[in-house]
Amino acid sequence: MEAVTINHVMQARRSLAPRLPVTPMWSYPALNAETGASVQVKHENVQPVGAFKVRGGLHLLAGMTDAERARGVVTYSTGNHAQSLAYASAAFDAPCVLVMPAGANPAKVRAARALGAEVLLHGADLAGAQQEAERIAASRELRLVSPGETPELIAGVGTAYLEILEAVPDLDAMIVPVGSGTGAAAAVVVARALAPGCRVIAVQSSASPAAHDSWRAGRCLRRPDRTSAEGLATGRGFELPQRLMRSGLADFRLVSDEAIGAAQRLLASHAHTLAEGAGAAALAALLAMRAELAGQTVAIVCSGGNANPAELAALGAPATPA
Ligand SMILES: *Cc1c(COP(=O)(O)O)cnc(C)c1O
Repeated sequence: MEAVTINHVMQARRSLAPRLPVTPMWSYPALNAETGASVQVKHENVQPVGAFKVRGGLHLLAGMTDAERARGVVTYSTGNHAQSLAYASAAFDAPCVLVMPAGANPAKVRAARALGAEVLLHGADLAGAQQEAERIAASRELRLVSPGETPELIAGVGTAYLEILEAVPDLDAMIVPVGSGTGAAAAVVVARALAPGCRVIAVQSSASPAAHDSWRAGRCLRRPDRTSAEGLATGRGFELPQRLMRSGLADFRLVSDEAIGAAQRLLASHAHTLAEGAGAAALAALLAMRAELAGQTVAIVCSGGNANPAELAALGAPATPA
């Protein structure tokens, strides 16, 4: 049996129900006019850590034994997975060590430390942080949590897609931003069970195309990370989410960081919401696919709102033509 099925997502919903409310999903007429589609914005940026990943972290910790929790967890992350595990570890009273790349978004570092996690800045990128996390896991006997290869994380984040498809069952498409691919993999699992006619479309930055290129090639590849949208910058494909994406993703697009910046501004002005770069990538893809998706009902996942200082400053910049 596959490592993540709709039953796992249903179980995750039961474990998360007492801990997280359903997030809002709204349609904004001005955004519909701008995109030519009937757009549903799923607001994962209003989660307690500002991103959808908290669903996965809480579900993972909820399923661990008391002994495992007492030992604690360690992971590597550009920021939002770190915050998710920090939040969940605090909720379940488990020690939590986070290794983040040296250039991590200071807001994400601050937030993880405020949640009580031990944060170590190590390595130039996610691969460097991973090495250090593996070393710490072995030396301190902590559970090493892979941001991509952990079925509980995928089942947990899948609850967002249950909420989307239950709210609007006749969706034509969902557009999902991709880093490691857990969100898009979960969307494929949930759409297949609840709405087989709904196309799941993934998007990544052309400046960090590892998951996209891995999906197109049918095997996990490494690619440089040059995007400023840190949630999309994993540098490599992850086996489990790639396999799930291959089983049902309708399409996988790349968008430029400039297009992501324009989409961030559009979410601010037309949906009065703060998106980090990764959180605006789905809207950037929708704009790029305007002709193909015209008149359709499309959900875009505003996956996170932890904008870095440069992104916040750029919100006030004059709009550049797309
Ligand atoms: C992690 C993240 C993504 C990408 O999700 P994956 O499950 O790693 O593909 C997208 N947006 C935000 C805000 C994120 O934090």
